[in-house]
Amino acid sequence: MWRVIGHNRILALLDRSIREHSTAHAYLLVGPPHIGKTTLALDLAQALNCNDADPPCGQCRSCRRIIEDKHADVVMLTLDPRVQINIDDTGELRQKAKISTGSVKQLQHLANLTPYEGKYKVFIIENAEYMSPEASNRTLKILEEPPPNVVWLLLSTRETKLLPTVASRCQRLELKPLPQEQMQAILTDSYSVGADEAALLARLSGGCPGWALSAVADDGLLRQRRQIIDRLRSLLIADLGERFDYARELATQFTQDRRAVSETITLWLRWWRDLMLIRGGWTEAIVNVDCQAELEEQAQSLSLSTIKDFITSLRQTEEFISKNVNPRLAFESLMLGLPKIEVNLSSSHGTRPAQQRRRSSG
Ligand SMILES: [Zn+2]
Repeated sequence: MWRVIGHNRILALLDRSIREHSTAHAYLLVGPPHIGKTTLALDLAQALNCNDADPPCGQCRSCRRIIEDKHADVVMLTLDPRVQINIDDTGELRQKAKISTGSVKQLQHLANLTPYEGKYKVFIIENAEYMSPEASNRTLKILEEPPPNVVWLLLSTRETKLLPTVASRCQRLELKPLPQEQMQAILTDSYSVGADEAALLARLSGGCPGWALSAVADDGLLRQRRQIIDRLRSLLIADLGERFDYARELATQFTQDRRAVSETITLWLRWWRDLMLIRGGWTEAIVNVDCQAELEEQAQSLSLSTIKDFITSLRQTEEFISKNVNPRLAFESLMLGLPKIEVNLSSSHGTRPAQQRRRSSG
């Protein structure tokens, strides 16, 4: 049984190619974070090595060893969430996150050995866009002369950052967000989530089941979201010193866990998109439905063009940090562009009250 949620067309295609022994030697799984790329990759590794008549069964020895990360023929390369910091020849500080040539070299070596315990060797490369140029070129060489019984699964949220020649050697599978109604039905029917909570989580997840299920399993995720929103709220009225403190905090967090910072930026983006929708009179399309009153309060003090400009800054920040630009500079620049509002933030969300009234920048 495939564990990945949704994506029925892709599953039908994979089922057929496994039945007909016509699987590609490399697949590129693309889609937003938490959409199910890693789950699908592991499902496919199981299906290729399953001993049951209807793979993947999830129960046979092979399927179980893959899920327990014990199978000798299934290897996953994951990006180190910490950022390596180096000083280059010119004395510049450079942040680098990458999948190294050494790791790909190891896979290349393993690929030339016959499968040890299964039918196929399956190599999964998460965040494949972070392969160093040399690692990409090495991967290209492997894909040009694929050894038999080896399947490569490259996973990416930003496929345009991949070496085009690498991407063109793979069969592309695009995992698209699930429709909200489907996501909501899955949460109520299969996970016994109450209707209101399911509706909220379906919106917040943006159609990505991984996020919604993590939020069901761990209410800390919603608490974290609340903290980030509260911080955003207090920064809107804060002075530059406080804003730069936050930029420093984000930069430090980025060197330890870039994924967490990237999720903060995504949350900010969704919030500002909601402000834009409210300003434009499209309230029914907002994501943060549980915070509508708060959004409306903020939107009153911001012009549409101010909101749009800040959304552009947020997108630029996303781009900068993916390019290993100095994160502190990127976050300080973001804070410089954050609009100030003069609304009296009086409603109770655990934030401190407005201390000063400021001129609106909109
Ligand atoms: Zn099985």
